[in-house]
Amino acid sequence: MEAPLTRVCKKCGEEKPLEEFNKNEKCKYGRTYECLVCCRERKRESFRKWCKANPEKVKERKRKWSKANVEKENERKRKWLEANPEKARESCCKWCKANPEKVKEIKRKWREANPEKEKERKRKWREANPEKVNERYLKWREANPEKVIRKYILAYFRRKGIQFQSLPEELIEYKMLQLKLNYKIKDHETS
Ligand SMILES: [Zn+2]
Repeated sequence: MEAPLTRVCKKCGEEKPLEEFNKNEKCKYGRTYECLVCCRERKRESFRKWCKANPEKVKERKRKWSKANVEKENERKRKWLEANPEKARESCCKWCKANPEKVKEIKRKWREANPEKEKERKRKWREANPEKVNERYLKWREANPEKVIRKYILAYFRRKGIQFQSLPEELIEYKMLQLKLNYKIKDHETS
């Protein structure tokens, strides 16, 4: 016998195309007697009843679900961070704030793997932030007076056409002392 095109749902009484009934070999024409909508509603209702009867199990399920999802979400963010360190810097997400050490590690690895890109990034940053560069330099100067003097001497010798590396260390130290003395005298004069 040829299967009919429609069936009347035994639950809601609506006539619907046969495809809107679940497949089941045991039923006539291989389709159940309640429509998909009613089937879904029945399952939902029984799940609601089960939840009401098993509040502890529901709690446990929720806990497990959220834990699994937090882990998944973290993993997704970690992968994204690894692939987009530039964007990651701009929009530091909650995860970054909660995992500063991990973020540092990821960024470090990225820099190691992309030295050229890192160079370019730094160059661009300096270009875009001249004030910050200056501020940093001033801070560095303040924190490294010895290095400042060394730099100054290096420039001085370079101007004179002398190879800095070929000079004996004592001479450089001597020049540094001389400069320090000059600074002291200048400080004394201005104060
Ligand atoms: Zn129905």
